[in-house]
Amino acid sequence: SRFDTLALAPKLLQAIQDAGYETMTPIQAKAIPIVLDGKDVMGAAQTGTGKTAAFSLPLLQKMLAHENASASPARHPVRALVLAPTRELADQVANNVKTYARHSQLRVTCVFGGIDMAPQTAELKRGVEVLIATPGRLLDHIQAKNCQLNQVEYVVLDEADRMLDIGFLPDLQRILSFLPKKRQTLLFSATFSTEIKRLAQSYLQDPVLVEV
Ligand code: AMP
Repeated sequence: SRFDTLALAPKLLQAIQDAGYETMTPIQAKAIPIVLDGKDVMGAAQTGTGKTAAFSLPLLQKMLAHENASASPARHPVRALVLAPTRELADQVANNVKTYARHSQLRVTCVFGGIDMAPQTAELKRGVEVLIATPGRLLDHIQAKNCQLNQVEYVVLDEADRMLDIGFLPDLQRILSFLPKKRQTLLFSATFSTEIKRLAQSYLQDPVLVEV
């Protein structure tokens, strides 16, 4: 089905058209209405299925539709946080999200390890509404007080199975402990192992299972 059947802002539909997308992929057709509806989602999807747009388009839509009441115009608190296992994936997700957000005022930034923190720190201090991060480097920035997560409304755990494989569970637990309890959480994983189900049970509320 076509993207223009969705209740998305013209700014987003324009970006989708610029990207040359015509029809939704199966994960997009299933997940986007559920995310728009405010539900937590447990999605079974691998990279290459269009899952980045499946979670980011509805989150961008919700952010555009609902201004953050406690944010003064000069401030740009992190409202959406995407956690990804590797710098490659984080960078790829960030580039996609930047493409979808290009006609909006929303700021999108990516932080990952292995490179100097200073440029990332400067970006975080300018303010960013959508933050894509690998867990270790995000914790470094939190510890350095470069970013606050107390206004996060939306969290995505992307490739959650790979994050657990890498050993990021303690980092994820710490990061999630800084977030407001009232939020929407989306978890994507190629497999639903016992560990993933346990993670979902701890951090998602009545998740809708989306499989393609
Ligand atoms: P992802 O699975 O999110 O990494 O996306 C895989 C690739 O598919 C990316 O290069 C996207 O730009 C592209 N893509 C995502 N959704 C669509 C769509 N509905 N139509 C065409 N290409 C898409």
